[in-house]
Amino acid sequence: MQLVSVRDMLKKALDGGYAIGHFDVHNLEWIQAVLEAAKEEKSPVILGVTEEAVRYLGGYSVAGAIIKSLMKEMNITVPVALHLDHGQSVESCKSAIDNGFTSVMIDGSHFPFEQNMKMTKEVVDYAHPKGVTVEAELGSIGGQEGILKSEGPVYADLNECIELVKHAKIDSLTPALGTAHGPYKGEPVIGFDKMEEISNSVKIPLVMHGGSGLPPEQIKKSIALGTAKINVNADNHLAFSKTVREELNQNKELYVASDYLAKGRSSVKETVIGKLRLFGSSGKAIK
Ligand SMILES: [Zn+2]
Repeated sequence: MQLVSVRDMLKKALDGGYAIGHFDVHNLEWIQAVLEAAKEEKSPVILGVTEEAVRYLGGYSVAGAIIKSLMKEMNITVPVALHLDHGQSVESCKSAIDNGFTSVMIDGSHFPFEQNMKMTKEVVDYAHPKGVTVEAELGSIGGQEGILKSEGPVYADLNECIELVKHAKIDSLTPALGTAHGPYKGEPVIGFDKMEEISNSVKIPLVMHGGSGLPPEQIKKSIALGTAKINVNADNHLAFSKTVREELNQNKELYVASDYLAKGRSSVKETVIGKLRLFGSSGKAIK
């Protein structure tokens, strides 16, 4: 199957009361792990690549080519979207779109609102004629993910959410509401009332970043309040690193890199399967 945008998968998820998992990928093993998990679970899935991961992988064209080739070799028939995560500029989003990404996030959340809206609209105007979907962000997600660092969460403003959706015509919205990138220190305080208010007002799928480590009941509540896409990154890093560390510590003679990387890959796959089941998307790719 060809890569698809997130339009249909998010609409079906919103209507069906479940969420689509967005998993950041950083190397060949992670891409294989996420695709295998989605195939086994018969689940739609979104592979996310940040600008940093694009550089690590060797460029936008490389990221697109690896994923497309693996989908063919692995006979992947579930819907898969390739998404630029936290695109920092209009140019980054255009590069991703020109290289086969089917969805992009333009993250202008750290700019003044007017500037955020202007750059978001510019990306939408470039993306939509090509069938590519666009996600935008308001407020500030806590924690750190690569070069993105925040002192603490700042909740999104309802009126700005309404304005942005109305004028930029985005496909999905990330309203920061208390989640954070990276492992949580203590239980996060999620603005559920505000989530409901925003969801009822903008009537498009909401996205939750910082989905790693959130208690299952908070995940389920978010889905019930209009969250249709949940981003996961830290939990896969933790699983991969723990497994590889243990393998190397337990066997000091081990030197074949593919032996321990394959174990790390399996742990990412298991983590992803757990998330797909938690989000309720398992089995949703069956026609
Ligand atoms: Zn994020």
